[in-house]
Amino acid sequence: MNASADKPAIAGGSPTVQPAPGRRHRWGGLELARLTTMVEQESLFYWGGPQTTELLRRFTALYPLEHCMPCSSGTAALHIAVAALKLPPGSEIIVPAITDMGSVIGILYQQLVPVFADVDPLTGNIDPEDAARRVTARTRAIMPVHLAGMPCDMTAVMALAQKHELLVIEDCAQAWGATWQGQPVGLQGDFGCYSFNEFKHLSCGDGGMVGTNRDDLGHGLSKWGDKHYDRVAGGRNPPTLSPNYRITEPQSAVACGQLARHNDLVATRRRLGLRLSRALAALDGISVAFDTPDTASSFWFMLPRLEPDAVRVSRNEFVAALKAEGVLSEGAYIPSPVPHYALFQNHDFFAGTWPLRDTGMTTMNYREVKVPQAEDLLARCVTLTLHEGLTETYVDQVAAAFAKLLNFYAN
Ligand SMILES: *Cc1c(COP(=O)(O)O)cnc(C)c1O
Repeated sequence: MNASADKPAIAGGSPTVQPAPGRRHRWGGLELARLTTMVEQESLFYWGGPQTTELLRRFTALYPLEHCMPCSSGTAALHIAVAALKLPPGSEIIVPAITDMGSVIGILYQQLVPVFADVDPLTGNIDPEDAARRVTARTRAIMPVHLAGMPCDMTAVMALAQKHELLVIEDCAQAWGATWQGQPVGLQGDFGCYSFNEFKHLSCGDGGMVGTNRDDLGHGLSKWGDKHYDRVAGGRNPPTLSPNYRITEPQSAVACGQLARHNDLVATRRRLGLRLSRALAALDGISVAFDTPDTASSFWFMLPRLEPDAVRVSRNEFVAALKAEGVLSEGAYIPSPVPHYALFQNHDFFAGTWPLRDTGMTTMNYREVKVPQAEDLLARCVTLTLHEGLTETYVDQVAAAFAKLLNFYAN
């Protein structure tokens, strides 16, 4: 390499990634065909709708779950699952400190208490040993989140659940197509919850799916997202409170097309993701998470972590240099562990109050929650975009950009 090739683009060198990746085409004929038949329908209502019926058929072919409710978002899917557990107010659900707000919104609305556990330093997934330390007499459930497409250690999570009789809700929003011991994620626990939001592997703008193989919890599952109306027997005399989280036929039509792309899209992401992981793992100064014999990640994004003191610049400066090289990258995927967000620090869930705490039904104080591994990972990780529209050439150039910058900024 000559001197100018060694010089970072941010310092006047030439960018490593050339040409810049082209536009990603996510929707096309598959979605259009469903939408075209849809506009001939008399109704766009989900219950018994042709698009939603087909969505359920395609989804359960990939994720064999007996009782499913297609719904308006991943947040809705998780809220429906949490509500269907019928836990008394004040019950605790253990969640990882790195996740989307969607994991905890339903818990709080059901007057339950999210208890944050620390994470694995490489994957950012829930640390089952730390979760075990957070179990109390009120713990009733645990919500492993398969972060960035990498499955959690479900053997350890299920063992913990069995020991303390906890229900398990798998948050699979970031893990379409990921497998645990050869099975799709969402089948090991009591519930699997999925998202079709704009930023996930598959998108219908917004949408979600929740499913279970437990007859006792799954019977009437849809009611928890449909005002608790009984669509089978008819009539409107809901025995309990439920929001309206229904999907619509237009969402289902697009989601049908997306599910037809599921396997190819995941295979491409895995091919690119494994190639990039291997290349990055060969470099000094950066660590990457790898599949275990039990897991097959579906690479929603990648979270390589700068080793302490590997470079003489901050993580944010390093990311700025990566961007200048043309690498699709960001700093941390969320700004801080979720319990450090203002609403948790201020216990401001309902107009500046938290009735559960104000009435003594919980003593949880989020200001005292310590999750050092989550903090450390978010301070040092680089969020790398990976998707099926990218190429081998692109990921090789990303690895070259890392090599150049790690070398240039080496301590
Ligand atoms: C995206 C996401 C959700 C919420 O899904 P929405 O469809 O945006 O409501 C929940 N959990 C995780 C881990 C997510 O990434």
